[in-house]
Amino acid sequence: MAEILVLVEHDAGDVKKVTLELLTKARDLGEPSAVFIGPGYATAESVLKEYGAAKAYVTDAEDIASYVGGAADVLAQLVQSAQPAAVLTAATPVARETAARAALRTGSGMLTDIVDIEDGFVARQDVFGGATIVRSVVTSGTPFLCVRGNSFEAHAAPAETVREDVTVELTDAVKAAKVVDRVSEVKSGRPELTEASIIVSGGRGMGSGENFTIVEELADALGGAVGASRAATDAGWYPHQLQIGQTGKTVSPQLYVAVGISGAIQHRAGMQTSKTIVAINKDSEAPIFELADFGVVGDLFTVVPALTQEVRTRSPR
Ligand code: FAD
Repeated sequence: MAEILVLVEHDAGDVKKVTLELLTKARDLGEPSAVFIGPGYATAESVLKEYGAAKAYVTDAEDIASYVGGAADVLAQLVQSAQPAAVLTAATPVARETAARAALRTGSGMLTDIVDIEDGFVARQDVFGGATIVRSVVTSGTPFLCVRGNSFEAHAAPAETVREDVTVELTDAVKAAKVVDRVSEVKSGRPELTEASIIVSGGRGMGSGENFTIVEELADALGGAVGASRAATDAGWYPHQLQIGQTGKTVSPQLYVAVGISGAIQHRAGMQTSKTIVAINKDSEAPIFELADFGVVGDLFTVVPALTQEVRTRSPR
């Protein structure tokens, strides 16, 4: 069966949900091999087994993650030695950069922001607010396919994962750029934005940073994450790292609730592949309604607290 490499997204061995989704898809396409780079494999091993990685290529050298291009060197070396049918990574900024460098080194093509992979490694991307579906194939080398989180449902299918240690000689070019510090983001207790199945986002219609508590309360009632439009982050009402859109995060949750957001093209670029979109806006002409599956025309300060109350009544958390 064709080997499919899956680059593991993890935080010191704490494997991210998107990797489980990629392993699940890789099982449809061939035989998944996890590529684990950095410290923490002992923590990750059981979950990689649970989700069916037949093999795990492990590079746990402490310094590998210190170099911006270190992971790319490992991936490029594995592509050359294992000759996989494809490489799957998340479409996160770091994974995209790793995939791009490794693809270049192996003379391969790369596609990103993928929402589905069909037979023959045909990648599907939804563009222009989901109005256009693009299907593309890589025509050179090994396909590097960067997939958005939440594109596939993760299902367990336990396997005996065979560990294979990989050592790599980092090139001088890679050693030219070193990471000197990493600062952990302060966690809010809510799901991470790019991993969340449910996101409630607030825009300029919120009127102030304090009013974001309304959005947070709905997100907490639904067990979701909180996002914001650029108008809201530029105004200093919400942190920039939670901005969704062209110059912010790209998300694809099961449910996206846009509160007081007009639906500018740059915002849509970051959330248009959400499975179900709900818009709450007092302007019935707001462009967000063109994209929404469900819309409420009304004052968010009335609608959102009522919705939160209803959610709490129906499913107390
Ligand atoms: P507005 O467009 O001002 O909309 C506010 C909405 O709130 C209105 O529809 C209004 O009817 C509604 N509203 C007001 N009060 C209430 C109320 N009480 N109840 C209900 N509804 C109410 N934007 C992003 O979001 N993300 C990006 O990554 C991004 N990148 C950009 C990159 C570039 C290069 C450029 C030029 C722009 C970018 N923008 C981005 C900005 C984008 O063009 C819009 O300006 C921005 O998305 C608008 O945010 P908004 O919808 O919150 O505000």
